[in-house]
Amino acid sequence: MKLGYPRALTYYDYYPFWAGFLQELDIELVSTPPTNQTMMEIGLKKAPADTCLPVKILVGHLNSLSNVDAVFLPRLVSMEKNTYLCPKMLGIPESLLGTIPAGLEVVTVDINRRAGVHQAHKSLIQWGKGLGKNKHQVLRAYAEGERWLKTYQDMRKQGWGFEESMECFENLAESGKLENLGLTPRQVQTVVQESDEYRPTIALLGHSYLTYESYANLNLLSKIARKANLRVVENVPLEITQEEQKHLRKSIFWSHARKIYGAGESYLEDPKVDGIIYLSCFGCGTDSLTNDLLARRSRAEQKPYLVLTLDEHTGEAGLVTRLEAFLDMLERRVGHEGHLPAHGEFVDCHSSPV
Ligand code: SF4
Repeated sequence: MKLGYPRALTYYDYYPFWAGFLQELDIELVSTPPTNQTMMEIGLKKAPADTCLPVKILVGHLNSLSNVDAVFLPRLVSMEKNTYLCPKMLGIPESLLGTIPAGLEVVTVDINRRAGVHQAHKSLIQWGKGLGKNKHQVLRAYAEGERWLKTYQDMRKQGWGFEESMECFENLAESGKLENLGLTPRQVQTVVQESDEYRPTIALLGHSYLTYESYANLNLLSKIARKANLRVVENVPLEITQEEQKHLRKSIFWSHARKIYGAGESYLEDPKVDGIIYLSCFGCGTDSLTNDLLARRSRAEQKPYLVLTLDEHTGEAGLVTRLEAFLDMLERRVGHEGHLPAHGEFVDCHSSPV
């Protein structure tokens, strides 16, 4: 059996898990190529108008699948205890059935780990039965998927880039065992400062499926990395992102928002980070909350904070102008103003976020 997996949304966090899980069950998993203009245009045309950009991109990928027996669209309800994924993800695949090419079969399974792992085991065992796999085989495959995912997460924490890590796992999914993956630790700081010239350190926050979606974000990562040292959400350990919610009255229960907020808190308190950029997408409900919470916190911590909102009409010139202005501001702040903006704390700290 050969399943097609769209390179969108859940691919960015969970591809290694599904690749390891399905390989153990002798099911081939092939992913779609990186997003291109045709995919984007099809996504915009076919996806429901009120969905966010990442879901539109997913629709574009669904329509680019060929030579597969079915498309694999798992419904991820919850991947960690007491958290949920966003409602738009919970509605997949049903909300997108009308956009899937006629004749393409959909394979789906629910994963709900809100109350622990047993519920996920139960649904996967049931799903495996339909494919002729017994309980023992499915549980062994689940453990293998977890092992692949953990290795991927460790690689990211050690400074491996997203593209290079995913390439390793895509090669591994074709043929190979995890043990054959020759891992060497990377420097988290991918661009080394070679001169005395000032290079700020920027933390980029946002959903993985937008941060690493270089077609949609107009290569933002490399644009930043050319001028600054870059940190991302995945460089912060997951355990820390969960702890870093002490300024909130209650924990955030959307897993992506929780991760982004936690990483944001950790970077706000890190003196080596000069500024924070929040990459948000138009139409995202959870971003509107996380972004505002972090904007308030960065105001209190006097840490420069820039929001870049992407939608399908985002122009490169506008993005570059905002980025350059932000970097210039950081440079002036360090070089001439003793780490305070021209108006000191008074204008900024007491201004209303509304
Ligand atoms: S969290 Fe936001 S960007 Fe992600 S799927 Fe939900 S609405 Fe879209």
